[in-house]
Amino acid sequence: MRQSQLFTKTRREAPSDEVAKNAQLLVRAGYIHKEMAGVYSYLPLGLRVLNKIVQIIREEMNAIGGQELLLSSLQNPELWKKTDRWEQDVWFKTALNAGGELGLGWTQEEAITHIASQHVSSYRDLPFAAYQIQTKFRNEERAKSGIMRGREFLMKDLYSFHTDQKDLDAFYERAADAYRKVFTRAGIGDKTFATFASGGAFSKYSHEFQTLCESGEDTVFVSREKNIAINKEVLTDEVLSDLGVSRDSLEESQAAEIGNIFKLGTRFSEPLGLSYLDKEGKKNPVVMGCYGIGPTRLMGAIVEVLADENGLVWPESVAPFTVHIVSLGKDGDEISKTADALYDDLVKTGIEVIYDDRDLRAGEKFADSDLLGIPKRIVVGKDAVKTGVFEVVNRATGRMEKISRVKLLSSLQPPASSL
Ligand code: ATP
Ligand code: MG
Repeated sequence: MRQSQLFTKTRREAPSDEVAKNAQLLVRAGYIHKEMAGVYSYLPLGLRVLNKIVQIIREEMNAIGGQELLLSSLQNPELWKKTDRWEQDVWFKTALNAGGELGLGWTQEEAITHIASQHVSSYRDLPFAAYQIQTKFRNEERAKSGIMRGREFLMKDLYSFHTDQKDLDAFYERAADAYRKVFTRAGIGDKTFATFASGGAFSKYSHEFQTLCESGEDTVFVSREKNIAINKEVLTDEVLSDLGVSRDSLEESQAAEIGNIFKLGTRFSEPLGLSYLDKEGKKNPVVMGCYGIGPTRLMGAIVEVLADENGLVWPESVAPFTVHIVSLGKDGDEISKTADALYDDLVKTGIEVIYDDRDLRAGEKFADSDLLGIPKRIVVGKDAVKTGVFEVVNRATGRMEKISRVKLLSSLQPPASSL
């Protein structure tokens, strides 16, 4: 894409009402727009990042057999009364003109359990897992963490359905592995720890995937040796002994929960009547698990962890574009022609490239390029015209390499098509 055509603009100053680094940088770079506290719109660059994150999550959920669906956002109170969750403060509730109440979905156990009850009758119908990537609404008290705590945000929620606890336990481990893959692919695997957190009636612990970052709202204790963490809320002598770690070996850190996996057992299947007939013809409640990731919170966490004092820094896997061509030419001169030709070549090869073809001073273009955070910057100046050699700067490391046009074209690979 030509930057001269991009309708969004960058800003020098962070908006005064944003305290979170992720929102400050994403607003400045024109990736998102703040509608009101805790409510953001995703602009073209931001949506490209979000779609890539969503696609990584989708691929890993498909790899463990997840079946994608899309549930309605408008929720029927009748289902939620059966599980005693209609009276919670988190709801945004609304009313029908025709009379009667509705809620905007903030999670979806009730809806999916009810649907499953119309499709499952025998042990032969189990196990299965279904997921969606959907906007959720929560009437959060605080909304100071930018896109990491929205009142409207995207969630991937997967639900699994089993005949017994053993089958759930096995799937739970596979889901945990899939989560590790997601966070590694998204570029923050080394900062993200499977964290022991409180369980429910059906398991002693649940697991949060916590990304270490100063702005995180949670406190965790990391065991580097075991590659796990413990949420402060459950740090007791009993937990330490369960996990075989000593208090002295743990490092305290702020962290943000970007994913969460939880054994629901029969918490929802019993009140909502989701059961199956086993081999002996006996009726049993279905055993369930739920598995959430917030793609928008994950996007915020990537910014919190990787951005530097000059702006955003995207890993290639989620960057809106792979390459940023910065032309130092003026309209129609030799430099511009060289940059145009390079742009055309890269586009033809299938490389995702944004091309700064605007008539601005070099300093302004470099500052914008740093702010946008595209992984590779190719500078086209006088030298490139004369020698056919381009300066390629790595945004994350700042390292500069001189690469000939031919080598450049062969070294850049289009993204593997994943659909
Ligand atoms: P928190 O304790 O941070 O409020 P939660 O325990 O309420 O999170 P879940 O209900 O398990 O979160 O939601 C699953 C995932 O959805 C979370 O791991 C997080 O990534 C994301 N998420 C939850 N609330 C928000 C929010 N307000 N804004 C953005 N993402 C969210
Ligand atoms: Mg919450």
